[in-house]
Amino acid sequence: MAVPKQRHNNSRTNRRRKHNISKKNDIATTACVSCKEQKLSHRVCDKCGTYRGVQYKEIVKRAG
Ligand SMILES: [Zn+2]
Repeated sequence: MAVPKQRHNNSRTNRRRKHNISKKNDIATTACVSCKEQKLSHRVCDKCGTYRGVQYKEIVKRAG
């Protein structure tokens, strides 16, 4: 198998990978366990402030 003779610099690697960037930047969302709202995966839900059933953030309900 061919072995690389020299290390590519970062910009060369990025140039090669620029075609995959849109795939890489696809935002992974999952349904929240408590409110079923779409949220960022591995993040506290913005709607209800829970993550994996545990309340982490106080959600202040605004009247009106
Ligand atoms: Zn939620």
